[in-house]
Amino acid sequence: MILSRADKDKLIALYSASLDAEWPDGPLPADVRSERNIATLIPRAQKAAREHLQGVNAWLFTHAKGHVAKIIDGTRTYAEQDKLYAQGRTAPGKIVTNARGGQSWHNFGVAWDIGVFAPLGAYLGDSPYYDKAGEIGRIQGLEWGGDWRTFQDKPHFQLAGFTLAKLQDMKQNGIAIT
Ligand SMILES: [Zn+2]
Repeated sequence: MILSRADKDKLIALYSASLDAEWPDGPLPADVRSERNIATLIPRAQKAAREHLQGVNAWLFTHAKGHVAKIIDGTRTYAEQDKLYAQGRTAPGKIVTNARGGQSWHNFGVAWDIGVFAPLGAYLGDSPYYDKAGEIGRIQGLEWGGDWRTFQDKPHFQLAGFTLAKLQDMKQNGIAIT
């Protein structure tokens, strides 16, 4: 998903007139950690995630200098998801998910989580910048976990147009998720 001219104009009008000159026609490669996570996504999600990250970092650059966003999680195998589910239940730690293997958007290559980092590199688990990232994601046509009613998940973004049931069905029947 490359941003249309109209969407770019909308972003620029919303956030900064100075962004235009810095905005290339396609998403740039991200930092190493983000790219490692982006690599676990399906191609369409890779493009969307890079584009979103670039939009968020452009906004942070002009409005919250020194802060940076990275993609800190991408696709998990069912086994990895089960391990995460066990955390806080049968394994030490605090509960971080209600999804078992096959029940998370992260199991299908269409979802990723961002993290916002302060100028000296500290991870910010809670920050108003996640709401900005959500606004930018919405403009780019993504689904944002901050819009969920039952389990708000502000760092979470995913491609629109799927349901979990549809993804599970596609995977089970060997249909490529694109
Ligand atoms: Zn997530």
